[in-house]
Amino acid sequence: MSDSYDVIVIGGGPAGYPAAIRAGQNGLTVACIDDWKNRDGSYAFGGTCLNAGCIPSKALLESSELLHRAREEFATHGIRISSAEIDVAQMQKRKAGIVRASTQGILALFKSAKVTGLTGRGRLLPGRKVEYTAADGKVTQLSAKHVVLAAGSVPTALRSVPFDGTAVLDSWGALDLEAVPKRLGVIGAGVIGLELGSVWRRLGAEVVVLEALEGFLPMADGQLAKEALKHFKKQGLDIRLGAKVTGASVAAGGVKLDYQDASGAHALEVDKVVVAIGRRPNTAGLLAEGTGVALDERGFVTVDEHCRTGVEGVYAVGDCVRGPMLAHKGKEEGVMVADLIAGRYGEVNYKTVPSVIYTAPEIAWVGQTEEQVKASGRAYKTGVFPFLASGRARAMEATAGFAKLIAASDDDEILGVHVIGPMAGELIAEAVLAMEYSASSEDLQRTIHAHPTLSEALHEAALAADKRAIDFPNR
Ligand code: NAD
Repeated sequence: MSDSYDVIVIGGGPAGYPAAIRAGQNGLTVACIDDWKNRDGSYAFGGTCLNAGCIPSKALLESSELLHRAREEFATHGIRISSAEIDVAQMQKRKAGIVRASTQGILALFKSAKVTGLTGRGRLLPGRKVEYTAADGKVTQLSAKHVVLAAGSVPTALRSVPFDGTAVLDSWGALDLEAVPKRLGVIGAGVIGLELGSVWRRLGAEVVVLEALEGFLPMADGQLAKEALKHFKKQGLDIRLGAKVTGASVAAGGVKLDYQDASGAHALEVDKVVVAIGRRPNTAGLLAEGTGVALDERGFVTVDEHCRTGVEGVYAVGDCVRGPMLAHKGKEEGVMVADLIAGRYGEVNYKTVPSVIYTAPEIAWVGQTEEQVKASGRAYKTGVFPFLASGRARAMEATAGFAKLIAASDDDEILGVHVIGPMAGELIAEAVLAMEYSASSEDLQRTIHAHPTLSEALHEAALAADKRAIDFPNR
């Protein structure tokens, strides 16, 4: 280990490790410090995303969706099975293997980009120095020409009941359950609450989701949120809106949740509860006195649009800075910063960051919602194409949902695309690319889409915006 680098990245999650790799690709000497510790005491790069978030949750969503399809859909296909049971231990073993392969992959990537991976804790000192406390407790002072802070975020706890890893779970705990709980409470109908609630519902738990807000998925397009709520309710997720959890207590055999809604105070008893009320920046203890780097009132590192902190040579990226807490947003910021450090061009187009909720049906969008466009005062048109009218979706037995495109009436600019349905997270990539290149709705209309594919839904939605859809009656 050298004690001086061109770049030191503190944090090896989905924002930090790409920053380190790109810095290495740019010919700079780079170290990436990460203190993620698994339950067995081992250290791993990849942060929440690879170890306890995006990747393991997708593994479980896939397993639980397959069980659901085996039970509910196979007969329709003419596939007879005597019964389909879930082996939770095997499901978790598969998930652990996927996580291991992903995190070990980072070590191989570091090797090829000549990145020095250091396990332990990093803290920024004044003058672009970094205090590195290794896993064995040894403290070293490192120096760098540039420091990238990529410390990520941590789950927000409910004040009245701290996480205990047994009955009161954060998202990591909810991914590691060894058996299907009979009654599962979920606090917060945000992205985590819906994804994890869906997993355990499909595996057989009775799931009650308590959401403080009256509106469902307020950040999503209203038409899409309404469609999503309909499907989740049909799947048996008991979603209670306007239900603010005010307290909770752990008692033998379960958790009692107190919540308040318009009709008064209520209590709900569950076996386990997942607290999914948001995440906060993981910046406690990240900065020593006198670094000059500022935190805002919520603990986010203050940065400009190029992720510069205002202190020469110090940058911050990912969940610990403003903007959506999304791995892909953090990745682009990390890469941008590493390129800027090397004197190359770097920019993140925050207007085209896609959002995806990996439920079934899957939800994805990019750009503005219809409500936002309406509030902006700009004249607009919309086109909607239901998957029910898609030959491919019918063949897949996946006809729930629709694709919706919003374009400006004057110059036909695509303002937003919203998809709920099969592979929505994959389909949205086309809309992101179209918007990145300032495509008009007509550009999308004149682009050939293979038949029969799900992507035709986007094509038809663009056509529908001008009342020229072919495969669905225009309204
Ligand atoms: P969130 O902010 O998406 O949702 C939290 C919800 O909890 C809100 O709707 C809020 O109103 C509700 N809430 C807060 N306090 C409450 C209370 N006392 N009682 C009832 N409801 C309450 O947060 P999250 O789902 O925890 O996710 C955290 C972050 O991680 C988000 O930024 C999310 O985008 C990100 N994430 C993204 C993905 C993805 O992209 N698929 C997956 C997981 C997490």
